[in-house]
Amino acid sequence: MSFITENLERIKAGLPSHVTLVAVSKTKPNEAIEEAYGVGHRDFGENKVQELQVKGPALAKDILWHYIGHLQRNKVKYIAPFVHLVHGVDSLRLAEEINKRATQNDRVIDVLLQVHIAEESTKFGLSISELVELVESKSLHSLESLRIRGLMGMATFTSDQDQVRREFRSLKTAFDQIKTSFSACDTLSMGMSNDYQIAIEEGSTMVRIGTDIFGSRNT
Ligand SMILES: *Cc1c(COP(=O)(O)O)cnc(C)c1O
Repeated sequence: MSFITENLERIKAGLPSHVTLVAVSKTKPNEAIEEAYGVGHRDFGENKVQELQVKGPALAKDILWHYIGHLQRNKVKYIAPFVHLVHGVDSLRLAEEINKRATQNDRVIDVLLQVHIAEESTKFGLSISELVELVESKSLHSLESLRIRGLMGMATFTSDQDQVRREFRSLKTAFDQIKTSFSACDTLSMGMSNDYQIAIEEGSTMVRIGTDIFGSRNT
């Protein structure tokens, strides 16, 4: 599977130093992750709790697991002991549950608030006005085991690059607006295999890349 190493090294060589690469390993076997780990990669992204629950304990303890999928409240407890960053927080109730499970595990969990920037209606996330409301709520700021690190968003899946750019730009604007509300806010997670170059031009600090590293997925 040496293509994984080749892809990783090519992509990394093209990333500015302030951009973190999350290798999205969903649906891929442990051997694929181990290959990337073997050449020094540590940040991996998964979008299913069940899959992460299996992979997490089976693989190296110093892997930084990013949860990039939609997270149901009743499943937070399964990943709370070890997850590194939860990218998809889109409600106060979910934030409260993560905070509760973080406290139980005697740790602080880093999260990103997910914003719906795509014109497509199928993606999860907060609208800009919901984001502003959440960020201004006292309840969110009272969660002491939760650390808001920034925002995450997905652009529309389209070949229209101007549209993608517009959507990323709106997320960057929102990020700049809320940044001052949280002392640890430094992460803007945007960009996937087909649009990460545009995302970086528009201010991304974290890209989530699966297909371009591990090849296409069957499922
Ligand atoms: C699958 C996934 C990615 C990676 O997508 P690729 O197109 O394979 O790079 C990034 N972000 C999220 C939220 C995903 O679910």
